[in-house]
Amino acid sequence: MDKDQERPQVVIVGGGFGGLEAAKALTHSAADVTLIDRQNHHCFQPLLYQVATAALSPADIAWPIRGILRRQRNVTVLMAAVTGVDTINKRVLAGNHVFPYDYLVLATGATHSYFGHENWGTLAPGLKRIEDATEIRRRMLLAFEEAELSDSEAEQKKLLTFVIVGGGPTGVEMAGAFAEVAFKTLHPEFRRIEPRHSRIVLIEGGPRLLPSFPENLSHYAQQVLQRMGVEIMTGRVVSEVRPDGVDIGPERLDASTVVWAAGVVASPATQWLRAEHDRAGRVIVGPDLSVPGLPEVYVIGDTAAATDAGGRPVPGIAPAAKQMGRYVGRAIAARIAGKQPLPRFTYRHAGDLAAIGRRAAVVKLGWLELTGFIGWLFWGLVHVYFLIGVRNRFVVAFTWLWNYLTFQRGARLITRGLRDP
Ligand SMILES: Cc1cc2nc3c(=O)[nH]c(=O)nc-3n(C[C@H](O)[C@H](O)[C@H](O)COP(=O)(O)OP(=O)(O)OC[C@H]3O[C@@H](n4cnc5c(N)ncnc54)[C@H](O)[C@@H]3O)c2cc1C
Repeated sequence: MDKDQERPQVVIVGGGFGGLEAAKALTHSAADVTLIDRQNHHCFQPLLYQVATAALSPADIAWPIRGILRRQRNVTVLMAAVTGVDTINKRVLAGNHVFPYDYLVLATGATHSYFGHENWGTLAPGLKRIEDATEIRRRMLLAFEEAELSDSEAEQKKLLTFVIVGGGPTGVEMAGAFAEVAFKTLHPEFRRIEPRHSRIVLIEGGPRLLPSFPENLSHYAQQVLQRMGVEIMTGRVVSEVRPDGVDIGPERLDASTVVWAAGVVASPATQWLRAEHDRAGRVIVGPDLSVPGLPEVYVIGDTAAATDAGGRPVPGIAPAAKQMGRYVGRAIAARIAGKQPLPRFTYRHAGDLAAIGRRAAVVKLGWLELTGFIGWLFWGLVHVYFLIGVRNRFVVAFTWLWNYLTFQRGARLITRGLRDP
């Protein structure tokens, strides 16, 4: 690699929200930065469910990492899957490749947790990457196609039953979007089936939807979803996922499409570092987000179990990952420049938002709570604002307006053959 070995080497693993911010915060630092990601793109996960439900196309919410950082001359972007870290010799391992570091930032995010039932993964895909979204889209659209083809009423019923496991923001957003697809978009287009007879079932193990929101907003979300035709089961736990449905204790629910939105677990950074971790597998970091005993290694975003100055856990959301990334980038720049260390990391929580469907969202910003059309408008503006690049902002805003006016969903492509036998 053509690097000036005199300059400190900073390796960042992960080009998500946290990793990108860390790289940007090192723009003016006299360091060589290597950003490694196993994907060539940064994905705006908050809008993944819109790709999964055919409202947006993958390229509307994902950008090449190389392109985002093209003007930052001290950054080299590499596409590789990191497999380990040698903390003694200060090297990152990616298959046969080795990357020495003076400072390391691990920002590898989280993945779905099936609570020990990893075999459920293929039966009930979760939503984390673009591939997951296009797979869910494929399964959903294929279910309607197969139902139109089928002569069996029982088979049609199963094909038109969609189960979403997990009533957090992703589950709620998915359920609302599935309802719109079935009840608004598709119903005029089929002749042998009635898409409006679809069953969309949202199952939540806890007592209410959106547990991170205040109770009144959970209640509102439940009411709106029910009005949209979504069946909601709270306090019910899925005990088995089968190829043709789920079991909820003794109850059997036949469904051809099951989506998992129930849990996340951090990436394997804990194993790489042999560091202390919490129950979700997140590395427990110190007040400056470095790993205890490894002052040159920082862990941020969904991979880190961090607390703020008041001892409250920092949530696994995009703004938190961005704030951590920015902080760590600045902390490393200060160390390289020989300046005073930064004061401890403090997290500023701006608020929580979730879209429920057409004209409905819940927004909690400090004391301010918004619902309904105003909440939905606010949710849309915030998401457009945080997208990267003018083109994407324009395309997404226009697509939403078009979808809103026409009830259409333009990205209804089944790009990979028929359902696996
Ligand atoms: C469906 C969904 C909806 C969400 N909605 C919201 C929302 O509305 N609002 C909100 O604030 N937050 C939301 N979140 C959470 C938010 O997206 C995450 O908190 C945020 O992405 C965390 O950022 P990160 O940098 O830690 O990880 P990520 O953004 O996940 O980035 C991790 C990166 O690391 C790379 N990587 C992983 N393993 C390796 C490896 N071994 N080698 C190389 N590269 C690797 C990945 O390819 C990825 O690019 C949502 C998440 C999901 C999945």
